[in-house]
Amino acid sequence: MTVFDNTLDADGALIVGAGLAGLFCALKLAPRPVTVLSPKPLGFGASSTWAQGGVAAAVGPDDSPHAHALDTGIAGAGIVDMDVAEHVAAEAAARIEDLARWGTPFDRDSAGGYVLSREAAHSRNRVVRVSGDRAGAEIMKAIIGAVRTTPSIRIVEGITAVDLARADGRVIGVYARKLGDRYGEPVMIRARATILAAGGLGGLYAITTNPPGVRGHAMGMAARAGAVIGDPEFVQFHPTAILTDRDPAPLATEALRGEGAILVDETGHRFMPDIHPDAELAPRDIVARANFRQIKAGHKVFLDTRECLGDRILTAFPTVAQYCAEAGIDPVAEPIPVTPAAHYHMGGVKVDEWGRSSLPGLWVCGEASCTGLHGANRLASNSLLEATVYAARIADDISGLEPVRHALAPFAGIDWDEVEGEAVEERLRNLVAVQDLRHVMTDLVGVERDAEGLRRALARIAELERTAQGVTRSFLNMTTSASFVAAAALKRTESRGGHFRTDFPKTDDAHWHAHTEMTLKEALTIRAEA
Ligand SMILES: Cc1cc2nc3c(=O)[nH]c(=O)nc-3n(C[C@H](O)[C@H](O)[C@H](O)COP(=O)(O)OP(=O)(O)OC[C@H]3O[C@@H](n4cnc5c(N)ncnc54)[C@H](O)[C@@H]3O)c2cc1C
Repeated sequence: MTVFDNTLDADGALIVGAGLAGLFCALKLAPRPVTVLSPKPLGFGASSTWAQGGVAAAVGPDDSPHAHALDTGIAGAGIVDMDVAEHVAAEAAARIEDLARWGTPFDRDSAGGYVLSREAAHSRNRVVRVSGDRAGAEIMKAIIGAVRTTPSIRIVEGITAVDLARADGRVIGVYARKLGDRYGEPVMIRARATILAAGGLGGLYAITTNPPGVRGHAMGMAARAGAVIGDPEFVQFHPTAILTDRDPAPLATEALRGEGAILVDETGHRFMPDIHPDAELAPRDIVARANFRQIKAGHKVFLDTRECLGDRILTAFPTVAQYCAEAGIDPVAEPIPVTPAAHYHMGGVKVDEWGRSSLPGLWVCGEASCTGLHGANRLASNSLLEATVYAARIADDISGLEPVRHALAPFAGIDWDEVEGEAVEERLRNLVAVQDLRHVMTDLVGVERDAEGLRRALARIAELERTAQGVTRSFLNMTTSASFVAAAALKRTESRGGHFRTDFPKTDDAHWHAHTEMTLKEALTIRAEA
């Protein structure tokens, strides 16, 4: 039996979400008091833990933050906010030092320098990594260790936020409930400052690399409270998710292509050199579309690592090797079947250079936010970097919290029972409406879009919202986010970066060389008129 007090006090700042953005911010706030909400036990349920490539940072001898910013701008297809790119690139080295200080065992060369990987659209080897492809898991392990020994951080696991709480025009905390308890009365958690770090929306798609709980809850919640949303139409599809019957689809990191892996069809034909001069290292959206079109034309697509890596894949890319083994694929002997999958959201809750949203009292960081860094297309490995840079900036921006030296007491009055992670996930996965929504997004708001499909998607999302059994605020957060992506995609009658319209295949700088800013009212109006 779950017993809620109606209102709890976070005793300071409240962070919603426990991926890299949320936990980094909590550590940067110390010794100021902060409560962190995590639906799952720490480390689970976050994209951060699954990151393979690493963190982009201009720390090599031949590199500079300016060169990093320029590459970010080119990848972003003309609408990157270059001031943001310059400051994020400039702060990268300091944030990597923070991660190292908190115990991240970055790969080093014999002189103690960082081993740097190459990823698509970077002009240099620039990605700091850990144990080959284990960056996310190792960073999160280190940072969770640091969080657990910091007395000013109170962690509450097994809880999920469903709404922002507001009073007098300010965000004053959240309404939250036990994960999976869809019908229980939510508890209000009051806070002096609320930081939304609840991730992106890849899980809104049927084919995705994101964990099941990352389904646009953050953006939906903020939009429903009135926050301005930025660039929602820009979703990045990763070209090489491993094609198995697993949901979500396991990722074959881009670093494999950096090492020389090639894309071939079922006859062994390598198709990327005909499509782009950089072949497999072309920008991610171009490679994803090439794979998508091959599959649409009835071909199969494979990532062939045999010649460039041979059996070195087993030690240099242990995570990918493990995924392959679980799927019965032997990458040393055969090419890996792959498919494009929803991977990263460039858009999100619009924030300024200090992570402040348009709602007073609400800061947003990590994939939930839209800082302007990524424009229409994220440069590989810029997202973990952005999460740390903005988490640190937000901690600097929040003032007026008195430091505490004692451990914050656990919340009184809550009996969360056991965290039923897997059972809850299974239930959610099986919810027909959620599955319908995910298929609508993949089929009609995916790698390629057109007006007719987007209109159908918007109508179907509205219908699901109206008719789904037991609609919860959680589902409403998902349909809200889905509506924003489809509405903005319908409105932007051009193609740019991750957003490709088959009916408007060209980039149209005369009309669309700009970010999208959208409120719930506009998104719902477009949906209603579609
Ligand atoms: C397979 C994979 C590989 C990747 N590889 C890289 C890479 O190599 N380099 C790179 O830079 N980026 C990579 N990315 C992207 C990067 O991992 C993410 O953009 C980044 O980790 C986002 O961090 P975050 O803290 O914002 O969100 P997440 O790490 O997703 O954390 C979100 C947190 O919010 C919680 N949450 C969700 N909803 C709620 C709610 N309603 N209430 C409370 N909490 C909630 C989640 O449980 C989780 O704890 C990869 C992503 C994936 C999926």
